[in-house]
Amino acid sequence: MQSRRNFIHKITASAISIPLVAGISPKIFGLTETAYHNESELKVAIMGLGSYANRVADAMKDCKRAKVTGVISGTPSKIKDWQARFNIPDKNCYNYENFDGIKDNPDIDAVYIITPNALHHPQTLRVAAAGKHVICEKPMSINAQEGREMIEACKKAGVHLLIGYRMHFEANTLEIVRMRREGELGPIRFFQGLSGFKIGDPTQWRLNRELAGGGAMMDIGIYAINGARYMVGEEPIWVTAQEVKTDPVKFREGVDETITFQLGFPSGAIASCLSTYNMNYLDKFYLNGDKGFAEMQPSTGYGPIRSWTHKGRLDLPHVTHQTTQMDQMAAMILDGKKAIIPVDGEEGWKDMVIIDAIFEAVKTGKKEEIKYL
Ligand code: NAD
Repeated sequence: MQSRRNFIHKITASAISIPLVAGISPKIFGLTETAYHNESELKVAIMGLGSYANRVADAMKDCKRAKVTGVISGTPSKIKDWQARFNIPDKNCYNYENFDGIKDNPDIDAVYIITPNALHHPQTLRVAAAGKHVICEKPMSINAQEGREMIEACKKAGVHLLIGYRMHFEANTLEIVRMRREGELGPIRFFQGLSGFKIGDPTQWRLNRELAGGGAMMDIGIYAINGARYMVGEEPIWVTAQEVKTDPVKFREGVDETITFQLGFPSGAIASCLSTYNMNYLDKFYLNGDKGFAEMQPSTGYGPIRSWTHKGRLDLPHVTHQTTQMDQMAAMILDGKKAIIPVDGEEGWKDMVIIDAIFEAVKTGKKEEIKYL
């Protein structure tokens, strides 16, 4: 039975639309309804305390609906540091051997997996088995088969599986998607996605096939793939792809340095994309329709995102992507809200199907059909 105080709180909350960040409507951040009606908080344990985890956790200090309450790490010194920074009690700290124990911990609702790509699959299965929601970094897995198993495991456990696609909540991205959906660009004909950077240290896990599942495509090329899908608004049905390798020592067998690829969509729209670990200043989207265009550069970096269309500049206010993402994901998990551009397991899986097809097209040199089976 709910208390009178709770009841009054709920009535009041649902009657007032509380502005989110800097007076911007929640709609622009990718949810179909206001996300901030409910004051409950998603209690999140972070798994893997590396560079992106630090960025996420720092951004979460400004969250209204999500909070770092636990950590899972193999490095005791990092755990100590995080305990101090985020006020995490000993009972919410785990390592990779004992983290199944989270199942009995009411301080943890969800685990955000921010480890090397190949670990996402086994770690998701264990978190789901512990009955906790999973937020998993991109790429969700290293192939479509593993992605499917993750979806099934979370479904079976009755927990959410969300993929860390922060751009799906970014204001410029959402405005361009709105314009395209409402016909302001006319029928879409072409998308260009350029995603890459020059990678440094040759010993890092990103250049180790066992841990990365590939090279640039898994890490950065996935932004062009995912962007092609949400910008065009269709799922591609064929791909052609070409690989170029200038440094076979740094980029060993199975670790792609540069791949250009082309996608075809059911409407006849086409995309031309580049994924690379060997070029800087490569973060650009261009979308072309019969009635207009949209361009973004940078398009998927940490921001501010810069964008313009045939109508002029957009440049909507910058909000730290991971803050918005985690508040919105909390609203999805706690209140059942839906994202405008999905971030669920199926969304992550489609990117993995396309990556599998790109690798196949590189191998065969032929146009490969993309089958979502
Ligand atoms: P990182 O190397 O900085 O951190 C990885 C962490 O995993 C480290 O703390 C490391 O100790 C830990 N780890 C656990 N088991 C390990 C093992 N067996 N081998 C190596 N490290 C192990 O990497 P990162 O940049 O934080 O990337 C982590 C994940 O986050 C990747 O999947 C990456 O694609 C994703 N990521 C996403 C974004 C984004 O914008 N969404 C940005 C950066 C990284």
